[in-house]
Amino acid sequence: MMAEKGLDALLVSQPENCRYLSGFTGSSGWLIISDSHAILATDSRYTEQAKQETQYFEVMQIKGELDSWLPELASGLRWHKLGFEANHLSFAAHHKLSETIKAKQLNLELIPTINLVERLRCIKEPEELELILKAVELTDAAFEQARAIIHPSVTEKEAAWEIEKFLRQNGSEGVAFDPIVASGPNSALPHARPTERILHTGEVVLIDIGARIGGYCSDFSRTLCLGKAHKTLQEIYNVVLEAQLAAIDRIESGMAAAQADQLARNLIQQAGYATAFGHGLGHGVGIAIHEPPTLSPTSTDCLLDGMVFTIEPGIYITGLGGVRIEDVVTLEKGRAKVLTRSAKNSFQLSGFSNQQPIER
Ligand code: ZN
Repeated sequence: MMAEKGLDALLVSQPENCRYLSGFTGSSGWLIISDSHAILATDSRYTEQAKQETQYFEVMQIKGELDSWLPELASGLRWHKLGFEANHLSFAAHHKLSETIKAKQLNLELIPTINLVERLRCIKEPEELELILKAVELTDAAFEQARAIIHPSVTEKEAAWEIEKFLRQNGSEGVAFDPIVASGPNSALPHARPTERILHTGEVVLIDIGARIGGYCSDFSRTLCLGKAHKTLQEIYNVVLEAQLAAIDRIESGMAAAQADQLARNLIQQAGYATAFGHGLGHGVGIAIHEPPTLSPTSTDCLLDGMVFTIEPGIYITGLGGVRIEDVVTLEKGRAKVLTRSAKNSFQLSGFSNQQPIER
């Protein structure tokens, strides 16, 4: 890919890309890759860690910002075209670097690249898939436990904390993102934050959680109702589930990601909820919780065997509530294989009568 772009070397700055290529998990470091060199440049805080974590990269200790060491390194190795990650390198860093190159009159051109490493990352190796599967299994287990503690009298924050504790106690490296537990009208915000709101019978509870194992994430959403659901909520649940199952069933390798999005979106549109499904159908999952491919109406990605992504249609009605159902799937032999195991057909939790919630 570098040769296609005519690059002599590539500067990798995006942390997940650095980790993917080198194994280095520190929060500050750069990779510089050419056909003859693989350098991991980091400062004194991380050089020991870098040497332990990376196998194929030569660790170079640096001091100061990019412009204080990179131009000299590049000119010493006679590189003239240096690629950088345009989605990540800051404007300020790029500006300083170009000013230094100009001042030193070096024959060095900075070439923007987009998603070079991400394109490699989105096709998972068996070892990566195994770690994702472990993370998926852990979120399934966390949901099982969440169902037991979800009760009218528990607050969203309390439920979220119980889920987070379970994930961490059972092997998750922190959480892939802050757990979402959103009840009643709060569930109409796709990325709600847990509040002190007490869960009520007859309302939905939207749970969106992710674990991280060996650096790899899982992403999971289910929507429940404590007791009997409002008619509209039951209806939107059925529409979302139908859309999700249809997408899982019809997605194929080689399909445009925008077309995959349309499989679910058409059904939601036909049911009259087109404007209530504001986000894309899904996203890749790996070292990052959101990575290519993007399944959305505007995506230009293509879905291929070995990719791992979410399928998560949703319908959100302001003031009433929202429903989202999210599984992680992988494309295998041309079809979507669902990794998530938790049931989707039990929306209404029994055992709760629709009366006033317990006062605290
Ligand atoms: Zn997601």
